[in-house]
Amino acid sequence: MTPTDPLTDVRTPPRRHTVLISGAGIAGPALAFWLNRYGYAVTVVEKARALRSGGYPVDVRGTALEVVRRMGILPRLRDTHVDLRRLTFVDADGGEVASADPHAVAGSVPGRDLEVRRGDLTEALYRAVRDDVEFLFDDSVDTLDQSHHGVDVTFRGGGRRTFDMVFGADGLHSRTRESLFGPEEQFHRYLGYCFAGFTMPNTFGLSHEIMMWNTPGRAAALYAVGDSDEVHAFLNFAHPEPPTSFGAFRQPGAQRDLVAATFADGGWEVPGMLAAMRDADDLFIDVVSQIRMPRWSSGRVALVGDAAYAPSFLTGQGSSLALVGAYMLAASLADRDHAAGFAAYEDSTRAFVTLNQDQIGEGEATLFPTTARGLERRNDMLRRLAGSSTPPATEGRPAHSALTLPVR
Ligand SMILES: Cc1cc2nc3c(=O)[nH]c(=O)nc-3n(C[C@H](O)[C@H](O)[C@H](O)COP(=O)(O)OP(=O)(O)OC[C@H]3O[C@@H](n4cnc5c(N)ncnc54)[C@H](O)[C@@H]3O)c2cc1C
Repeated sequence: MTPTDPLTDVRTPPRRHTVLISGAGIAGPALAFWLNRYGYAVTVVEKARALRSGGYPVDVRGTALEVVRRMGILPRLRDTHVDLRRLTFVDADGGEVASADPHAVAGSVPGRDLEVRRGDLTEALYRAVRDDVEFLFDDSVDTLDQSHHGVDVTFRGGGRRTFDMVFGADGLHSRTRESLFGPEEQFHRYLGYCFAGFTMPNTFGLSHEIMMWNTPGRAAALYAVGDSDEVHAFLNFAHPEPPTSFGAFRQPGAQRDLVAATFADGGWEVPGMLAAMRDADDLFIDVVSQIRMPRWSSGRVALVGDAAYAPSFLTGQGSSLALVGAYMLAASLADRDHAAGFAAYEDSTRAFVTLNQDQIGEGEATLFPTTARGLERRNDMLRRLAGSSTPPATEGRPAHSALTLPVR
């Protein structure tokens, strides 16, 4: 029943719970959408000046497809589907090893699972919430102070506000996680690789396809999303220890030098890729890692997406876990307080997350073998796959659909 204000005898609506979400990537806007749907007053703070619109293609598969369908953005995403048609592997000298169906390699289902540019996904999510949710760009949380009545937040831009709950959707190197649970290293599971991604001119005539060059421990790939005059270039390399001190590794000069030194004697298109990397203005370099945490919340603050359970791109499930996690977190809070809601979120979602994170083990990345013997085994597997007349899968990997969304 709506309460009555005794002074004016006017019926006042119940106070909406206020929440702050840090990060407008994939998990952040998806969580904002569902919390707004359940009656929360939502603010999203994003450190970038605007929505980060660029980016490599990402997959939306299995249970995550049902999340975007329930959000009403599935048709829009279908229109932006990348429709990759061929995946060609070449050896050290550039000779073809095998040309395979990308769906067979990735374990996805043609005609059902989606592959979209990351920017198209973030844009679709943002459009679905921007009229109902407050977005603060070019700002970020400075301090979080929890008390029994809420979370006092100060912003780098100078603002100060109190929210009922705060959510960290701020990615692999989450600051929310660090301020709540301490240094990243405790939760960081390094998978033995580093990578660099950037765009460069499509002087190769590639269209709707990936070409990948491998030597033991090194891979270079050119990814043509459509008939565009640009390709996504990708350099992945084994590095037994994480480049110590993530801080130093994050310095652009040191990053470029490490990648250039690792690929210095590269063949195929690698020298041209290294030259393009030097000039790229969208270069993104990072470690290939997972985040594994015993708990995803503390008090009135909870984590979602890569911040809580990054699976690494080796699983191809980062975006799907972010979408499903956001849905499950909001659904868990729809009719519970924060303590019960956060417990329900972990109970209902952890097994799905772990199953998907376990799709890859340390140093075992199927597409990126680190030894000559491993590479030969992988190439045999690819040749068998390319020569097989097995019809395309109608079911994806069981892990992708291992959670049934609750109906609300
Ligand atoms: C090279 C590469 C290839 C990938 N390929 C795939 C793939 O094929 N399939 C797939 O599903 N996934 C893939 N992923 C992973 C996928 O992009 C992520 O797992 C997914 O985006 C996770 O979403 P998120 O919202 O949790 O985090 P993010 O997308 O990282 O978003 C975090 C957001 O928080 C913002 N932010 C960070 N810090 C702060 C702060 N302090 N304050 C405010 N805002 C902040 C960031 O600017 C960003 O907008 C790939 C990742 C990489 C790097």
